[in-house]
Amino acid sequence: MIEFTGVHKAFGDGAVRIEALRGLELRVPAGQLCALMGPSGSGKSTVLHLAAGLTRPEKGHVRVGDHAISELDDQALTDIRRHEIGVVFQFFNLLPYLTAYENIALPLRLNGVQDQEECQRVADTLRLVGLTERQDHKPNELSGGEMQRVAIARALVISPSVILADEPTGNLDTTSGRQIMDLLQDINEETGVTMLIVTHDPVWGASCDRILRLVDGRIDEDVALASGQRAPATAT
Ligand code: ADP
Ligand code: MG
Repeated sequence: MIEFTGVHKAFGDGAVRIEALRGLELRVPAGQLCALMGPSGSGKSTVLHLAAGLTRPEKGHVRVGDHAISELDDQALTDIRRHEIGVVFQFFNLLPYLTAYENIALPLRLNGVQDQEECQRVADTLRLVGLTERQDHKPNELSGGEMQRVAIARALVISPSVILADEPTGNLDTTSGRQIMDLLQDINEETGVTMLIVTHDPVWGASCDRILRLVDGRIDEDVALASGQRAPATAT
């Protein structure tokens, strides 16, 4: 579950102050696959950064699961982010000198997970994203789509309660972008992890549970899609 109540976020001050979010209210229930859309500059990345605990609101509250993350101290926030929140970025953000396996294992090592459990969890996650054969490859030996699969696996391996992705296909060609979006949908169905995904792809948006459209830091449109309408994005 992700919940924003009365969230304000501004950047800069004085004449250059930009109100990115103006009293945002939103609730993404547990398990929902929610697309976050809207024009450039409408506040989508700001929403994800707040939900990930990377920034704090000026006013209002942000909750993720049982945690009031906007009120936690830095140590508690770091702990929640390591265990509950998986983040996927447009530019993958993989460590270039580590293999796919090692990139995915990294969050487990930071969490002090033992070797045997690490092996099992990384293997399971590699299977889930279809990359078992590529586990010993470094990022520069992988395609863009494969790199994003590694990044998704790295977000998933901690068994988070939410996955946040900011334009995960923004740096991919159409075909691999669509495969990534279909993969996210499969993972949501298989694991029940809550997902808030920033995308400009209306076809994919139409195949998830809900579309939230932001304009000027406010919800402009909130469309719940009946599960019956949900179809694989590749079908259209
Ligand atoms: P989106 O992801 O929808 O394109 P953002 O959330 O990145 O929008 O930005 C919302 C608004 O806040 C924009 O006007 C942007 O210029 C501004 N903004 C975002 N981050 C910063 C920052 N770190 N410093 C100054 N302005 C920012
Ligand atoms: Mg953005």
